[in-house]
Amino acid sequence: MVRDKFEFISQELENLRKEARYNKIRVIQSPQGAWITIEDRKKLNLCSNNYLGLANHPEIIQFCIEGIKKYGVGPGAVRSIAGTNILHVELERKLSEFKEVEDTILLQSGFNANLAVVPTLLDSPEDAVISDELNHASIIDSIRLSKAKRYIYKHLDMEDLENKLKEAKNARRKMVITDGVFSMDGDIAPLPEIVRLCKEYDAILVVDDAHGEGVLGRKGRGVVDHFNLHGSVDIEVGTLSKAFGVVGGFVCSNSIVVEFLKQKSRPFLFSSAMTIPDTLAAIKAIDIVLNTDIVERLWENTSYFKKEMRNLGFDLGNSQTPITPVMLFDEALTQEFASMLFEEDIFAMPIFYPTVPKNKARIRVMISAIHTKEDLDFALEKFYKVGKKLGVVS
Ligand SMILES: *Cc1c(COP(=O)(O)O)cnc(C)c1O
Repeated sequence: MVRDKFEFISQELENLRKEARYNKIRVIQSPQGAWITIEDRKKLNLCSNNYLGLANHPEIIQFCIEGIKKYGVGPGAVRSIAGTNILHVELERKLSEFKEVEDTILLQSGFNANLAVVPTLLDSPEDAVISDELNHASIIDSIRLSKAKRYIYKHLDMEDLENKLKEAKNARRKMVITDGVFSMDGDIAPLPEIVRLCKEYDAILVVDDAHGEGVLGRKGRGVVDHFNLHGSVDIEVGTLSKAFGVVGGFVCSNSIVVEFLKQKSRPFLFSSAMTIPDTLAAIKAIDIVLNTDIVERLWENTSYFKKEMRNLGFDLGNSQTPITPVMLFDEALTQEFASMLFEEDIFAMPIFYPTVPKNKARIRVMISAIHTKEDLDFALEKFYKVGKKLGVVS
């Protein structure tokens, strides 16, 4: 391989290291769980999106094994050609019931679900899309793929959203799109106000509920349920890769929108369906979420950990959910903090630019229903120890 063609890359990688923004990717040698094995040592896992512990749930594993024997593993094709298995249809029906919506379409990931929605519905420069500045990368990319004119409003700022809606008043179609729960800060979009503005200005409202499903609302039905806004949000984008513990994405809406996405959206038409094991696992995961008290346990753990961390003097930003940003601001300090935690057998990821703005670096702690009180106490002790050593808390 001729490497000098890629000199520019070596330069950029060097810069990442210098700026303490180089991402060290750890290899996990065990299943997902409260404790995982890395470099042959058990580490307390504080960074997975496995909110409910379903990624390695014995009932789901058993259900998948039986289902794989019957249906195999691969979907065979894209959904529209020969890839729609009866299990995909069953999962769509179950998700519609769970989310209390008219219809659902499955995609391969939450990322793809956003790519299916925005460019398909907004395909002209006469259209307008109005997006929260902290929306997820997949929303940003979906906007880039659409032809619509872009308006970015300040994070959670309803006055600014209204100004942007006024600016976009004459657009052919208008869409407001927001994360339900913001993945790096753990704060929640003020949906009742956004719904009101969308009605007033006749805009389509899309909410990405990736971090709300399995977490917020009755039995984890999500952010729309949390605010009791059923029927008022036009389109919900979802993922199966977080609380549901698998991989896959979906879009919930009325049956006309879902039918349209099945006819026209490119991730649906040009990328193969969810795998059989993922589909089976998601079907079972919904049953477990509905028939156990794991969502309640997630919230008990969350309240306990956040209360104790605040008592210790840590700044947790504006988090209202199990996403717990431990704000350290400085990139190098955050990297150092995470390395020291790792030495203490705590696996918690440092998050920095460009995932979050510059000088807003943090350790992002993800609480799970499967953490025991002993696990959380262990984490608190280590956070305090490292925080004291680095002068973050006294
Ligand atoms: C994680 C996430 C996604 C992507 O979901 P995947 O299923 O992992 O592709 C999309 N949107 C938001 C808000 C997310 O947090």
